[in-house]
Amino acid sequence: MTLRSALRSGLAALLSLHSLLAALPAQAGPHEHGVAHLSVAIDGQHVTLAFKIPMESLLGYERAPKSPQEQAQAKALLDKLQQGRHLMHLDAQAQCQGPAPTVKAPVLEGKAASEHGDVEIEWQLQCAQPAMLRKAEVTLFEVAPNLRRVQAQVAGPQGQTRKMLRRNLRQLPLQRP
Ligand SMILES: [Zn+2]
Repeated sequence: MTLRSALRSGLAALLSLHSLLAALPAQAGPHEHGVAHLSVAIDGQHVTLAFKIPMESLLGYERAPKSPQEQAQAKALLDKLQQGRHLMHLDAQAQCQGPAPTVKAPVLEGKAASEHGDVEIEWQLQCAQPAMLRKAEVTLFEVAPNLRRVQAQVAGPQGQTRKMLRRNLRQLPLQRP
């Protein structure tokens, strides 16, 4: 492979990864229970977080809530997910701010679903000091009792990285050491 063609295919790979990240971490076919996906895109001061979480990880089921108790539990969960602190903590020195996360949960909104149901969350932030954005702690585990792993990918000025987070390993590096 010549240097030029190597560069070209490397660039093509980067571009296709970038367009992959532009969308939610969507996947064809059924999800794996207990596994959520997270993508973090850092572009200057602008940070976009996108989560895709199997409903089973949050509520233990993926159908519409039935009893009044289930309905109340589902509503409380939606309220929590709309508060960013239940998703992720970013370095305070980075001074990130933004509107509340957008939560989409078709099953919880009473819309018909297939066999599986996901909760999709997008959170847009502006960080005054993006250089101070060194790590994030995924707090989602605290509101998702059946969540075992979060497959995270980060795209930022230093390129692309991937990391598997677990209940006892919640810290996501956002910069190379
Ligand atoms: Zn499912």
